[in-house]
Amino acid sequence: MPMATLREVLQNTREQHFAVGAFDTMDHAFAEGILAAAEEAQTPVILAAGDFPGPDYKNLLPYLVDRIARTSVPVCLHFDHGGSYEACVRAIRAGFSSVMIDGSALPFAENISLTKRVVEMAHACQVDVEGEIGHVGANAGSVESRRDDSRYTEPEAAAEFLDKTGVDALAVAIGTAHGVYKEAPKIDFERLRAIRSLVSVPLVMHGASGLSDEDFRRAIQNGMCKINAFTNLTIAVTSRIAADMPSLTNPLQMSHEISLRMTAYAKQEVLRHIRLFGTQSIAGRSRS
Ligand SMILES: [Zn+2]
Repeated sequence: MPMATLREVLQNTREQHFAVGAFDTMDHAFAEGILAAAEEAQTPVILAAGDFPGPDYKNLLPYLVDRIARTSVPVCLHFDHGGSYEACVRAIRAGFSSVMIDGSALPFAENISLTKRVVEMAHACQVDVEGEIGHVGANAGSVESRRDDSRYTEPEAAAEFLDKTGVDALAVAIGTAHGVYKEAPKIDFERLRAIRSLVSVPLVMHGASGLSDEDFRRAIQNGMCKINAFTNLTIAVTSRIAADMPSLTNPLQMSHEISLRMTAYAKQEVLRHIRLFGTQSIAGRSRS
């Protein structure tokens, strides 16, 4: 299936109160797990990759672009946390169908002007854009953000930001943070409802890894349409592989075995999130 845009995969989310997961990948085995889960559930999915330290994106991205063309469900390839205009240009050239420009740590006017420039450039290439207003900070161990200062999104500022930039989806800060939480986060649902009433595009939640299932349900009910899942997925998958290690004794098959297990465990975790987010299947979508 041809690669989908962000707007295509988020279609109906707002009106019908479900969300689509954006699952970050740093390697092909994890990516295979994400795609296998979406294909089994027959739901759209957002496969995300960013400018994070470590991964071999030069080889991974051509693989993902080719692999997505051979899926049976709509897949958006999303560039997570683009840090500059130039990074977003490189991402579009590499084949992403959606980019996030994260100007959330900048002063309001600078965030608007940077995001607007990226929107004009990306839309000319038929690529969608996610912006961020307010700032989702970082807990320990986060690779998406190194700043630990969170700033809640002001609803009126979110409306002005959308009006002046024309983003296709908007990340907002309502009490979550990237990475591993030391104590349970307190989500400001009232703020989320106020933002939703003023902002017409799909809202995006970052830093969702420490939330309870009930938090997710309430967040989706109150307007979250795209939910980024990374830290908790990675921890769940790698801890299961670590537990399996003593049973892997054949050195000739070990790397293959680890790769297969990573795909299988990632698939299970992603499937759990797809169900939790109530992601509508392709069949359900064509009926709506
Ligand atoms: Zn994030």
